[in-house]
Amino acid sequence: MEMAVMQPRVYPRNPALKVLAFLAALLLWTGWTDRAAAEVILNHSLCHAVSETLSADSASPPPFSCIGDPQGYQRGSLWLRTNVDTYPVDPRNLVLLVHHSRFDRLKVSFTYADGRSLSQEVNSGNFGSHWRTGGQIAFEAPLRDARLLSITMRFDRLASANLLRMRMMTRGEANVQATALSISVAAALTLLLIGALYNTTLAFSLRRQFPLWQAAWAGCMLVWGTMWSQLHLFILPGLAGAVSAQTCTALSCLAVTMAAFSAVMALDRQVLPEPMRRITLTLAAAVAILGIPLTFMRQGPIETMAAVLGALILGVLIGVALCLGWAWRRGSVEARTFAGAWSLPMLALGSVQFVDTNTIFWGGGSQLLVLFAAAWQTLWLAAAASRTHARLRIEHDRARRAEAQAHELARRDPLTGLRNRRGFVEAAAPMFDVNRSGASPLALLLLDIDKFKRINDTHGHDAGDMVLVTIGNRIARWEGDMCKVARLGGEEFALMVAGMDGFALHRFAQSVRKGIAECNHAEAIGEGPVTVSIGVAEATPDSDFRELYRHADEALYSAKHEGRDRVVFYRAENAGHEAGDNPPIHAA
Ligand code: GH3
Ligand code: MG
Ligand code: MG
Repeated sequence: MEMAVMQPRVYPRNPALKVLAFLAALLLWTGWTDRAAAEVILNHSLCHAVSETLSADSASPPPFSCIGDPQGYQRGSLWLRTNVDTYPVDPRNLVLLVHHSRFDRLKVSFTYADGRSLSQEVNSGNFGSHWRTGGQIAFEAPLRDARLLSITMRFDRLASANLLRMRMMTRGEANVQATALSISVAAALTLLLIGALYNTTLAFSLRRQFPLWQAAWAGCMLVWGTMWSQLHLFILPGLAGAVSAQTCTALSCLAVTMAAFSAVMALDRQVLPEPMRRITLTLAAAVAILGIPLTFMRQGPIETMAAVLGALILGVLIGVALCLGWAWRRGSVEARTFAGAWSLPMLALGSVQFVDTNTIFWGGGSQLLVLFAAAWQTLWLAAAASRTHARLRIEHDRARRAEAQAHELARRDPLTGLRNRRGFVEAAAPMFDVNRSGASPLALLLLDIDKFKRINDTHGHDAGDMVLVTIGNRIARWEGDMCKVARLGGEEFALMVAGMDGFALHRFAQSVRKGIAECNHAEAIGEGPVTVSIGVAEATPDSDFRELYRHADEALYSAKHEGRDRVVFYRAENAGHEAGDNPPIHAA
């Protein structure tokens, strides 16, 4: 049967994905080549001073040291100082950008040649107007006639000096970066939002679990991206600082866990070795678990923990890559789809662990890269799921058509093309309903070809078949809304006629008999008519098919018995009544 041979169809790659790939490549290229000439990264060129307890606001810093790493500042204050005149940035036009991190307060003092010092400060929970898109805090050097000599930053209760990122540039450059970063962040967040919504609808329409994981991951990345970029400060300025930084840690850990789960869960259990699956899921769960203490930590070995977490994330990436590769080799379609979706995020997350990407993308750094990679992954998978969905629909439609065809075939007689008994019973059912309601009379005409065996015997079975087809074609002409026709088997045909009784029915039955007798069978058996005997039974309001058939059959038997080539109406006293050319006499 046709439905058994379903050809696998090759679908063209979604052009939207090509556009997305192009945009991603463009972003990578611009991101990596955007480094402004006038931008200075300060991390390793600062002198520091530490007081182990929080000192008074007005207190001057302990003596500065310009070698080694600062220690013991987590409960107290850390001062970082740089002499501006050593950099190629115009000191009259200077902006200091600090990427937000975990600290209680940051006070920046600009010291001028005339001995004056001007300060700006932000507190965790209040960045005022200093926050910028892309997780940064901007301090613009006040414009004065005196020459700017140095900048001193005082961090209170800073969690990690090594995780600090600070840059210096001109106001113009800072504006360009802020604009580029805002556009990029908005684009990535929009893509993620679309991805999250689309995957949610897919999960429900496909009734599959993995798009839901995917939607959760996209949603998680969306919240993370909003908080990391500080866009949430538009609405919730009180979340500025440590709370946001800590929430971001929790979210990014959760996101990695969910992404890994979504990939591994989508793969068939049979195509993966169980230990490989278990280890990857355990590593992914460990990322979420380790993320909890790291989220709340303000002191202690944050950097060590972060390094462990980084290693774990790498482990998860390798685990997922192995799972996908393994399943791909075993022919898993899902694995191929996921490999495409995961390749970019894996490269992004992987490169974040090895390459110092902190200052690329206009200061958006690895976070922006990860954000775009997440959007890529979400949309890629949504597109792949849509393709699968479309293919399933096409196959479903085809199967339904084939099923309808098989249904129809099962109700047709292959020789004459008329309905068979099953088709006839089904087609007659609504007519019985109408008859029961008393709206219209109903009658069954049972036809049997006379002496058909002789035709077979004399002219052969094929000639017999031709006679059957000719008579079938003739009978088909009576088919209509009020008359359903069928070949019930052998040389027996039937007509279920609605809307006629008494004289009209009698006239009709006679016209059927005559119409069949007039058929031309010259080609099959030469000259001479082929006649039929007809038994007619009229339905009472509570007749069913079996009963009506039995009555018509009895009448047909009488017709044969009385000499064939005639119409006999069923009469209730166990006998048929030959209609002759006169109206039948009905029994009560
Ligand atoms: P009667 O007038 O009493 O109905 O005599 P008859 O010969 O028509 O009746 P009988 O029941 O003795 O024979 C029916 C024959 O119809 C027997 C069978 O071989 C033949 N027949 C049944 N189905 C087919 C068919 O599909 N093709 C052909 N060629 N013959 C068939
Ligand atoms: Mg027969
Ligand atoms: Mg017969």
